[in-house]
Amino acid sequence: MRTEVKSTCCYCGVGCGVLIETEDGQITGLRGDPDHPANRGRLCTKGATLSQTVNPTYRLQFPEKRIRRGEAGRRQGWDQALDEAAERFAATIRQHGPDSVAFYISGQLLTEDYYVFNKLAKGLIGTNNVDTNSRLCMSSAVAGYKQTLGADAPPCSYADILQAKVIFIAGANPAIAHPIVFRYIEDAKAANPDLKVIVADPRRSESAEIADLHLAIKPGTDIALFNGMLHVLIVEGLVDQGYVAAHTSGFEALAEIVKNYTPDKVAALCGVPAEAIVQAARWFGVSDASLSLYCQGLNQSAHGTHNNAGIIHLHLATGHIGKPGAGPFSLTGQPNAMGGREVGGLANLLSAHRDLANPAHRAEVARLWGVPDVPAKPGKSAVDLFKALKTGEIKAVWIACTNPAQSLPNQAAVREALLAADYVVLQEAYANTDTAAYADLLLPASGWGEKHGTVTNSERCITRVQAAIPAPGEARHDWEIVVDFARRLGEKLGSEDVDRLFPYANPEAIFNEHRESTRGRDLDITGLSYALLEAQGPQQWPYPAGASAGKLRLYEDGRFPTADGKARFVAIEHKPTAEATTPELPISLLSGRMRDHWHGMSRTGTVPRLFNVEDEPLLAMHPCDMRHRGLESGDLDALG
Ligand code: SF4
Repeated sequence: MRTEVKSTCCYCGVGCGVLIETEDGQITGLRGDPDHPANRGRLCTKGATLSQTVNPTYRLQFPEKRIRRGEAGRRQGWDQALDEAAERFAATIRQHGPDSVAFYISGQLLTEDYYVFNKLAKGLIGTNNVDTNSRLCMSSAVAGYKQTLGADAPPCSYADILQAKVIFIAGANPAIAHPIVFRYIEDAKAANPDLKVIVADPRRSESAEIADLHLAIKPGTDIALFNGMLHVLIVEGLVDQGYVAAHTSGFEALAEIVKNYTPDKVAALCGVPAEAIVQAARWFGVSDASLSLYCQGLNQSAHGTHNNAGIIHLHLATGHIGKPGAGPFSLTGQPNAMGGREVGGLANLLSAHRDLANPAHRAEVARLWGVPDVPAKPGKSAVDLFKALKTGEIKAVWIACTNPAQSLPNQAAVREALLAADYVVLQEAYANTDTAAYADLLLPASGWGEKHGTVTNSERCITRVQAAIPAPGEARHDWEIVVDFARRLGEKLGSEDVDRLFPYANPEAIFNEHRESTRGRDLDITGLSYALLEAQGPQQWPYPAGASAGKLRLYEDGRFPTADGKARFVAIEHKPTAEATTPELPISLLSGRMRDHWHGMSRTGTVPRLFNVEDEPLLAMHPCDMRHRGLESGDLDALG
């Protein structure tokens, strides 16, 4: 019988809804969900080909134990695999303490998966060594929002794109990385020819093609640009003084700093004409509704938090926040990086946007979980976690739904760390990722189309994800693997409480516990349930008990979740990147995304239609840089 099941695309943070078509237990097709608020039926090439990725050939189907690294794994039963894993972790913890083990997880996981991983590490074992590949993309956005607005909450919605009068895209290339968002920008431009699009990007990116003004700034000069634009806003009387006085603090200190960021000085720093900086500031300040969209170009930087603060300042100074078509909108990279942030799935965060550094927050989480305490010492963040694995400070690591042997920076060091580890567990849907070669134990996980739970997209919208087919072989859901392991580990560690700590029979029970942890917090979802999400469709947070709808837009009343209710300007300065001052490293390289692929390509690489679009990675270089180095197009090919 043919049926359609509601789910989401598992690639980027736009979070498009899909309808998965099944017949006789097989996925036979897919279409965009016309009722999903993120995409209204549209899909990009990656989303549209999702049904072609369901191929058991590439899947890990049974637990496998590897006796010696480099050799093929031997099939194991789940009981034996998880018992052995629990014994290895318990022995390591007994001998070396809780911080000798770590979990490296993923923005691809569902919120419920994330929640139990976090509770396993911080609640049962007593270590904050749980970090995620979202660290590499979104941690600056988290810190930027918290430092300025007081909470990690993107205040805008996709609907704002269609109402904006100015769209400022900085450090993002949505035409390639967030294609459905870019369709909205195209729609907005078509509906309103007066809409001004400004793109700040060192490259003339695909998104810059639609721009009325392209600011081809030098890499790493974002703060100079934002401070320079603020300088122009102040000098030309475009600051909303009433808004600044009533709803913000710290403006004077920043205004003092940006006196030095004259258009001429900023032009020299950024490598763009002074007139272009003035033009961008004027458009931004004069318009009724200015919206900024930004992503990894700001986040992935040694001063990523300040990059985020710099663009948010422009909104606070002009009052372009908390009203239709306006606000600083951080685009999320991964499909559920937001869900991970909500449950505190990072080494320095706790559930429901609580801070590990805050003793009251730690006590609240300990009370919610019914444990004596949550450790105060921050865990290792992603890169440091692998460094600690290499030095032996961390001895056992559990990796889930991510491929660090391909995707973390400094690959040689990461692979050495994995080789140096005493014990590596990999929980993964695919059999042949690069990290699989380093695992002592491989645990098969369910994948897209097979999972139940929830995800949150860039615009704070929570969608219920439904399974269309069962997972292949003996693959199990991520949350199930974690809960089963936690119960076994708890027993071995002598915990009398482990069944009470991990009582879940299904993901809904986990969601309900997570929901309770948000009560009274900025992301309060106590009014939501699986039943409501299924009956009424995706909903934006906050959605507290008693509400009849989520919030399309935050901070409409000008009150921010800070101690005094005011947003904060941060006194930030431009600092050149360390590399820019090193003569041995004369070229700045920028990373980008291939439109038809996702991350390490373990899924998209299995689809010929996608794989054949670009058959190898590309390094693009300015013709002058090539000429100065005696390079010709294609020389890298010749190097093999
Ligand atoms: S990759 Fe992103 S834009 Fe494309 S369909 Fe999936 S969620 Fe939508």
